[in-house]
Amino acid sequence: MAKLYFRYGPMGSGKSAQLLIVAQNYKDVGRRPFIIKPGIDTRSDKVDSRVKGLSAEADLVAPAEIDLYDEVAKASTLKDPIACVLVDEAQFLTAQQVNDLFLVTVKLDIPVIGYGLRTDYQAETFPGSARWLALAQLEELKMVCRCNRKATMTGRKRPDGTFIRSDYGENEQVLMGGNESYEALCPIHYLEWVGETRFVR
Ligand SMILES: [Zn+2]
Repeated sequence: MAKLYFRYGPMGSGKSAQLLIVAQNYKDVGRRPFIIKPGIDTRSDKVDSRVKGLSAEADLVAPAEIDLYDEVAKASTLKDPIACVLVDEAQFLTAQQVNDLFLVTVKLDIPVIGYGLRTDYQAETFPGSARWLALAQLEELKMVCRCNRKATMTGRKRPDGTFIRSDYGENEQVLMGGNESYEALCPIHYLEWVGETRFVR
């Protein structure tokens, strides 16, 4: 039976690049990948990576109200079946849309791989990532902090390069940004630079 996978990792761990490589691998053997991008990401309809020249059009840019089970069922035909569904920025799907994709694996027998963040810069799950963590097989993509320790958390930076302190209670969970706005951090530097108030009683 096909499975639901969540390949999670902090900013800069190569999630989009890996998605694009997997898509290309399917194409190379004459099989059809189906790339979904949450509609919340208004930067473009493209899946871009930091690797120069490595990008692809999304097959579906999905607003929150769209039923992804219906969309995949419609798109996958006998003549041109979908071999695998790949989701970029998977944390931005709604919890219901992750449920939809779970049904895709079970009822349509099509594997689904979501690439995304486990937590935001306040170390909290997104509604979508919480659902992925609950339903999917988990695979971690690794990244290092500036200090060379393993980075498991994500800090958010202002244009001047300083970190937004979670202590301030700002809530901008769904603001998009590239590598200039976010940085993968080890737990030690996360507590030091982003703040420890939400961990300390
Ligand atoms: Zn560090």
